Amino acid sequence: MTLSAPTQVDSRDTQENHAGHRNKILVVAATSLGIVFITHLFLSGHAANRLHQTCAICRLNRVDYTSTITGRTRSRVAETSCSAWYREKSEDQHDHVWVRSPTVGLVNFYGQTIGVSDNDETPGRAIWLLSPNQQIEIYEHFDGRLEAKALFTALAHPEAWDDRADFSIVYSLRQWADSGFQRSWQAPVELRGWLTQHNH
Ligand SMILES: [Zn+2]
Repeated sequence: MTLSAPTQVDSRDTQENHAGHRNKILVVAATSLGIVFITHLFLSGHAANRLHQTCAICRLNRVDYTSTITGRTRSRVAETSCSAWYREKSEDQHDHVWVRSPTVGLVNFYGQTIGVSDNDETPGRAIWLLSPNQQIEIYEHFDGRLEAKALFTALAHPEAWDDRADFSIVYSLRQWADSGFQRSWQAPVELRGWLTQHNH
């Protein structure tokens, strides 16, 4: 009998220890979940801008990722059918004339797109209306590849955008392609003066 009292006390102590231990585990688990949730929220937020660019001449593609935190940009280039064709058939090397896509992707740390922002007022925007394969065909049918190169370079000129000449030229090239490339390409009459000024 004398031993029964201490045994009950021990048992109560043990239960309290277990309860305290359980509470600690719950607190740690809740804290961990909170940290995971906050971290996930942070990683899901806007971490970088993804901007596609293409060379107006050869259509090599480039993707720029700019961190919204550090401001640093890392770029990745990707060959297209036209860039490979141009290097082999026209020029080994040239200075790329980069034109940006009118759309910028907003991405999180996981690389997922969480939004887009549009800016249609970008020089060279019209070149995006031609696929790399369409551009190869234009090069192949144009009166001289370097003349075509000069025309595509002119499309990226800031004044082409300013004067709204870029869309007119690209539409005219597409009409020419749709006609089966009949005769030589002729610049729209209203743009001939502009092209003489910028096409060099
Ligand atoms: Zn290029």
